[in-house]
Amino acid sequence: MFVYGTHRVNVSHFSCNRLASKHQAGISYSFRGNSFVLKHILRLPAAPGEPRVDQTPPEVRTSRRRLRACHECDWLMALPPLRPGQKADCPRCGHILATRHHRPAQRSMALAMSAMVALLMAVSFPFASFSVSGLGNRIELTETATTLIGFHQPLVGIAVILTIVVLPAIYLVGVIWLQLGLLQNEPLPASRTIARALAHLHRWMMADVFIIGALVSLFKVAGMADVELGLSFWAFCIFAVLLLLTTQSIDSDWMWFSLAGEPLAPEGARTGRTAASQGLAGCPTCGLVNRLDPMGRGHCQRCGERLHSRTPHSLQRTWALLVTAALMYIPANLYPIMTTTSLGQSSPSTIIGGVVELIQMGSWPVAAVIFVASVIVPVGKLVALAWLCLVVKRSAELNAVTRTRLYRLTEFIGRWSMVDVFVVAILVALIRAGSLMSIAPGPAALAFAAVVVLTMLAAMTFDPRLIWDTPPPRDSRHTQGTSG
Ligand SMILES: [Zn+2]
Ligand SMILES: [Zn+2]
Repeated sequence: MFVYGTHRVNVSHFSCNRLASKHQAGISYSFRGNSFVLKHILRLPAAPGEPRVDQTPPEVRTSRRRLRACHECDWLMALPPLRPGQKADCPRCGHILATRHHRPAQRSMALAMSAMVALLMAVSFPFASFSVSGLGNRIELTETATTLIGFHQPLVGIAVILTIVVLPAIYLVGVIWLQLGLLQNEPLPASRTIARALAHLHRWMMADVFIIGALVSLFKVAGMADVELGLSFWAFCIFAVLLLLTTQSIDSDWMWFSLAGEPLAPEGARTGRTAASQGLAGCPTCGLVNRLDPMGRGHCQRCGERLHSRTPHSLQRTWALLVTAALMYIPANLYPIMTTTSLGQSSPSTIIGGVVELIQMGSWPVAAVIFVASVIVPVGKLVALAWLCLVVKRSAELNAVTRTRLYRLTEFIGRWSMVDVFVVAILVALIRAGSLMSIAPGPAALAFAAVVVLTMLAAMTFDPRLIWDTPPPRDSRHTQGTSG
């Protein structure tokens, strides 16, 4: 499928770099004496019956040293050759740099298409039904969001529909579009923009959290009314699992290499020290190491992502978001999150009130889920991020690996706090039997959803590379570090 040829040409490094960025996909160079050895790869149309997708991993297709800078500790290293099923992680902090999959395009494509079918089934069939004393109600999945809008909670409704249906659907269509192009060996239009967007999108998809919310809702009203789960619920469970597998199936190293090749590593880049100390930065989206301008800024030459030596004003922005989140956590707990009307009597309940009610009902495990998701996770996250910001200045005295692990944990658990918001969305839509039994959302729902979003943003603006920066007096000249 490929024809390799070798020419010996005398070209300046500058023109070579320009050539490299122009023909990223097919050209590789090596340096011998005063001349570059230019190896070029011609793409020929596939023979009939020959598989069109190039399944060979990047390390087979280029002999070039592929540098990566760890996103979490900024350590510069060369990617080792990877076999399917293998991962490359950072020797300093353990962050995973690349995961190699067997047949990555087919795998992602199959999973994304199956997930899309499951999502279509989940939105077309009834999600759940409830009945009490002959009165009942049946809802579809999207009604969990539209009912909130009807109760003058448009922001919470939009947050619900975005995180469980809209963003996952956009993500899946994006994956299918990308992999379709890669399978034909001809990336479809806007493939790079889509690949960049997917990298930002996946943390806002919360189908798995929604399932926990649905199960908690079921237990909450189990004693008071009959609730039955519909076909849509089971389709949604399958969708959530397939969505998770799709996000894990993306071999972004292979994908970016197939989309745009691997431009030449910046001149003079040396592994075994930080990228920032050499005026370089690793792209958080495609992984490519780029040279920055003297101000420590730049753009990735492969995907166009904006790059910074360190996220600008990272600590200030994280503090601002943390303080706002902490302030929002006060109304989230003082005001009722929902009001239950039973036999004409309304009883508002706060987050903690809901937990106490569940304990009184004897539902210890459900009470524990709500308590962990609504109290321990957000408070723990606020405290952990505040502590990480506070001790950044005393970096040398504390264990950086432990702090990086703590940061990873705060980033991972953040979205699970949405459970209580989803519980409100489901119960408000489902439990509607007038004065006999109905549930309305309270003002705390919006405040609490804001806490979840703000703490997630705070974790994203915090730059974990700061954890590894030694304090200023030692920083500037002694950057030798230990070898990985
Ligand atoms: Zn690292
Ligand atoms: Zn990039």
